[in-house]
Amino acid sequence: MLFSELGLSPEILRAIEEQGYTQPTPIQEKAIPLVLSGKDLLAAAQTGTGKTAAFILPILERLKKYANNSVSPAMHPLRVLVLSPTRELADQIGENAKGYTKYLPLRSATVFGGVNMETQVQELRRGVEILIATPGRLLDHIQHKAVQLSKVEVLVLDEADRMLDMGFIQDIRKIMSLLPQERQTLLFSATFAPEIRRLSADFMRSPQLVEVARQNATNDQVEQIVYAVERSKKRHLLTHLIKTREMSQVIVFCKTKLSADQLARDLKRDGLQVEAIHGDKAQGARLEILSAFKEGSLRVLVATDVAARGLDVSELPYVVNFEMPNAAEDYVHRIGRTGRAGATGVAISLMSPEETRQHAAIEKLTKQTLPPQTVEDFWPSVSHIERSVASSHPRESVLPALMAGGEGIKKAGISRRRRKAQREIPALLLPPRYKVEVSH
Ligand code: AMP
Repeated sequence: MLFSELGLSPEILRAIEEQGYTQPTPIQEKAIPLVLSGKDLLAAAQTGTGKTAAFILPILERLKKYANNSVSPAMHPLRVLVLSPTRELADQIGENAKGYTKYLPLRSATVFGGVNMETQVQELRRGVEILIATPGRLLDHIQHKAVQLSKVEVLVLDEADRMLDMGFIQDIRKIMSLLPQERQTLLFSATFAPEIRRLSADFMRSPQLVEVARQNATNDQVEQIVYAVERSKKRHLLTHLIKTREMSQVIVFCKTKLSADQLARDLKRDGLQVEAIHGDKAQGARLEILSAFKEGSLRVLVATDVAARGLDVSELPYVVNFEMPNAAEDYVHRIGRTGRAGATGVAISLMSPEETRQHAAIEKLTKQTLPPQTVEDFWPSVSHIERSVASSHPRESVLPALMAGGEGIKKAGISRRRRKAQREIPALLLPPRYKVEVSH
């Protein structure tokens, strides 16, 4: 299918062409006609599927009738509100909106917390048709009467599951209650948790359901590798992988701000060009780091889940889970940072003995087996393997790792705790030549 078959105007088609897109992605093919028809939409779409354009393009088509060059704010009332969970995602949607409105006199603005409100107020007072906002900052602007919601025709909730995760439910309900009843609502979410369904039942009118991939499915374009490794060796293994795999760019995920900062310091010591982003960093610094990474002048970006949400770097080849996420859903989001829009990518997870439970949860959620592997000289210990077997993890998925690393594991683990370990390793898990002194 071609974009020109979707009922979009020449001004929009021209902007799409300038982005270099030749064909609509599946979510765009399905969602664009529905949004154009004015229907409410409940869309399950992974990151990287082209979902932003899937809602912005038809919205612009609907707004085209209002496009004008007047300087009067009254001629530019707010028509479209897009809510985003994070500043980075808001910023990205804003950039997309600016790109697609290049040939249409429609104004868009992006507002989020952590930066001065006054500049935002001035921009809002001049009048904008499209506002992309994080919920908290939007409420601040509403309170200061910098925005008027009475003419809003379309509401978009992007990454709604994440907004709920981040505790924005009250803010969202409040904002919904201030909007005109008569409007179109589009809700995008990676998963349809019960809370999302409740939200849609309360605020949407017979929404059309669009799903482009199985819920919680991971992207087929992404090669997924899990390495079993001791926690203390993770950092060295990471440096080794970045260097030997010649990763041109990589996002490394950590669970906490503290571990992200620590890892960035360690990697710097290893001679890598690295920065960390997380919620404690000032907004200016975050945006600066992100733009350095997007431009390719920064090689390694260490990030927490929330900070990296919505981050869109074209052709990002690698994602590393330095720490396995506590929520298996986050794994899907994390690895969705690579393999975007048809490009291939590699997602590497470093699993320490303490993280076998998270590994099993990820396999269960994504309905796949991710057999742990080993890297020479970074062998996991015997106890690590024992834990993998002891967890709900399927035995056959651990076996290949041991087969590959049998000798190394034996060296690393058995030399230290020879007798006990040899007794405890299940015979099945050892290559035949190591089947010694095993008792069951
Ligand atoms: P999103 O899922 O909206 O975050 O988009 C993921 C990436 O796909 C972004 O880099 C977009 O610029 C890109 N993209 C969106 N639509 C298309 C398309 N039709 N063809 C190729 N790339 C696209």
